[in-house]
Amino acid sequence: MPTIMIAYVEQRQRLVSDGDAEHSDGGDAGQENIGALGVAAAAGDIALAARDFGGMVFIPPATLLRPSKTDDVVRAVCVARRSSRLTVAARGNGHSVGGQAMARGGVVLDMRDLGPPMELVRCGGVAADVPAGALWEEVLEWGVRNHGMAPTSWTDYLRLTVGGTLSNGGISGQAFRHGPQVANVAELEVVTGDGERRVCSPSLCSDLFFAALGGLGQFGVITRARIPLVPAPKMVRWIRVVYKEFEEYAGDAEWLVTRAGSEAFDYVEGFAFVNDVSDPVNGWASVPILPGSVFEPAKIPAVSEPILYCLELALHHNHREAAGVDEVGNLAHLPRCIRTHTTCLSTAIVANTTKARTYTTHRPRRAVSFPRWNS
Ligand SMILES: Cc1cc2nc3c(=O)[nH]c(=O)nc-3n(C[C@H](O)[C@H](O)[C@H](O)COP(=O)(O)OP(=O)(O)OC[C@H]3O[C@@H](n4cnc5c(N)ncnc54)[C@H](O)[C@@H]3O)c2cc1C
Repeated sequence: MPTIMIAYVEQRQRLVSDGDAEHSDGGDAGQENIGALGVAAAAGDIALAARDFGGMVFIPPATLLRPSKTDDVVRAVCVARRSSRLTVAARGNGHSVGGQAMARGGVVLDMRDLGPPMELVRCGGVAADVPAGALWEEVLEWGVRNHGMAPTSWTDYLRLTVGGTLSNGGISGQAFRHGPQVANVAELEVVTGDGERRVCSPSLCSDLFFAALGGLGQFGVITRARIPLVPAPKMVRWIRVVYKEFEEYAGDAEWLVTRAGSEAFDYVEGFAFVNDVSDPVNGWASVPILPGSVFEPAKIPAVSEPILYCLELALHHNHREAAGVDEVGNLAHLPRCIRTHTTCLSTAIVANTTKARTYTTHRPRRAVSFPRWNS
């Protein structure tokens, strides 16, 4: 299990090469250095930083800091450097499941309060400079509401931080088309283990850039990311298709992710669920998209396996809209239970309101008609 040791690793190397014993940094040196930070963490903060979403690992740090600017991160790392034992871990929204954002007896940096606020930048294209502790949900709302722009690659669950997912990968149903989030970053600001604040990109300090992306915080603390933006789609057609047979589900998934250019879907993802009405989490209830949409069990064949499969698809259709037709072409097998939903993205974020529209995809081999949602 990776534990962040950016300060520890570097200091240990120096001590060993000096021919010095690690013990030269006495047992309480870490605590003294924490004192130098001048912040005493509340018991609740320590408890928060000792756990993560997985709930399986409990590792109390010595303290938790909430940096509000990059200089606060620099200071914490510099203080940790003075100890051979004090480790530093950045914590995004704590949605790791194996203790990756914890520091045993060390300093946890809660990145959520980090500034400065998000800013639109023009650098060839349009991008957003985003503090690493921002949630992707906040980036989406800020971009669409203020600028009508959005990143191209998301996580499915948006209450994860920019720094947290860029330190992992960041995948969703858009990754087949645009790559994971780590492939959609123009620039990073990183505080490295020597306490330096460095700006890096594919062409500037590229070693640091590519190490920090997917690096689980082992190569420094990301404090800012520059995320390219594109115009947000006006409308999104959102569909779930349920399958009885895995081969049909997998065959259609493969077909969907290999469409090119204007024939491509914007989002494709799949999941399995339990063929059971009584399981509120993994059963039929996991299929309807929004409150008000209905799963139609009557369409499930009488002889079905205990596991069913669902493809979730989306089409952005401000650029390919055609009135009057409601069909997705070329799905190889007739879906058994279908619900479609069309959402106006900008209003969905703000008020979760919906609006029905229609669209046509490319010339279908075999068109499947969908029930009108709410025309
Ligand atoms: C309910 C749920 C839904 C999820 N959905 C998705 C999904 O749709 N797509 C997906 O790809 N993943 C998903 N994940 C996994 C998720 O991406 C990772 O667990 C991610 O690490 C969580 O982000 P976080 O902001 O909570 O980071 P944390 O869990 O707080 O941190 C993750 C790692 O990144 C490091 N880190 C955090 N911030 C920084 C920083 N600023 N600089 C350097 N290192 C840093 C931490 O030290 C740690 O090693 C999901 C997880 C859960 C629990």
